Amino acid sequence: MKNFPLSKKQLDALAERYPTPFYIYDEAAIRQNAQAIRRAFSVFPAFKEHYAVKALPNPFILKILSDEGFGADCSSLPELLLADMAGMKGEDVMFTSNETPAREYLKALELGAVINLDDYTHIEFLEKHGRIPSLVSCRYNPGPLKEGNAIIGKPEEAKYGFTRDQILRGFALLQDKGAARFALHTMAASNELNPAYHIETARLLFELAVEIRAKTGIRLEFVNLGGGVGIPYGPEQEAVDYGCLAAGIRKAYDEIILPAGLDPLGIHTEWARAVTGPYGWLVARAIHRKSIYREYIGLDACMADLMRPALYGAYHHITIPGKETADAAETNDVVGSLCENNDKFAVRRRLPKIHADETAGDFVVIHDAGAHGRAMGFNYNGKLRCGELLLRTDGSFLMIRRPETLEDYFATLNMGELQDFHNRLP
Ligand SMILES: *Cc1c(COP(=O)(O)O)cnc(C)c1O
Repeated sequence: MKNFPLSKKQLDALAERYPTPFYIYDEAAIRQNAQAIRRAFSVFPAFKEHYAVKALPNPFILKILSDEGFGADCSSLPELLLADMAGMKGEDVMFTSNETPAREYLKALELGAVINLDDYTHIEFLEKHGRIPSLVSCRYNPGPLKEGNAIIGKPEEAKYGFTRDQILRGFALLQDKGAARFALHTMAASNELNPAYHIETARLLFELAVEIRAKTGIRLEFVNLGGGVGIPYGPEQEAVDYGCLAAGIRKAYDEIILPAGLDPLGIHTEWARAVTGPYGWLVARAIHRKSIYREYIGLDACMADLMRPALYGAYHHITIPGKETADAAETNDVVGSLCENNDKFAVRRRLPKIHADETAGDFVVIHDAGAHGRAMGFNYNGKLRCGELLLRTDGSFLMIRRPETLEDYFATLNMGELQDFHNRLP
């Protein structure tokens, strides 16, 4: 059963204050999940999770995660500023970027974030435009050594990271240029529910850590396993068992790291989806019902609010508050208002009979929207992105981002010149 923390009655009251559509995140559930992750990984001498800011770039959420002992993974200047705002400082922040502009490296250096280089040539780029810091991480692309998965593709077709040979040469070069502390990173999957996949990734990094030690003399301070742990979007899927995952990685550690004399080696991660994904929902209202060659339910939210279904054909579970136990009596496409036919949250989905009305229509709750949800939103078709609410641990609600307004939409246009431009037209 997919959980949603509010009853129909609570939603009715909430929607009086905050009209739909909106995102809502559950603070208590995010905290419990963060604690469960830390507990599972306490089998390692040092563990640090760097939440990937791109998935839910809101400083309130980052503050909660920081309070639970998590750092951040950033890949742009605004993300570095968000992490800083949330009190995530220094080496609690990884800067895992690619095709990085010099000024973003400079900001990362200024904040003392761990720079995770994406390419061999970035060693000289960083030195030329900034400096080589004491601690440097390099991103490894395992290429054909590792099978890809549906969302991220095959590693050898991915633009990220160093080859194996470049990693070995890269660390040696960094050492020549004054680096004294080293870390190794990879990110080989996205939304992968099979723990064996992530355990194999760890094994790959451990083996490379041993090879780096043998060939360059460098002893790594930590390895970063990246993100990519999946969540059960489908009600029939099962969540990753953190204990089983951590135990599998620990077994590889005992087999590879201990005998090589590389213990203690820090284990870092950059999970995002698994941290907040299941604890965020997009709440919309059914405002139209349409019957042509198929049956449609039209919402007041659209793919500009949540793009995953349109982008990847991703499944997001849908429930109708107040009708949780009702029969799935109808088959509908649940759609938004964009002038794009792929603006569909669900296609031929069996759902309870939905009441559609501008003000009194049923709420339509779209699950597992707490990561890569609103963050991927856009303004195409003049769509204004919705706001974000936080359900606090005491049951109160806090608006942590207001909905966009027309003023926001027009703010970047050079309106001051428009009249003059018009007057001067031939
Ligand atoms: C997107 C991303 C993550 C987070 O991925 P999830 O699949 O949400 O865990 C972590 N690291 C990097 C480098 C990323 O690009």
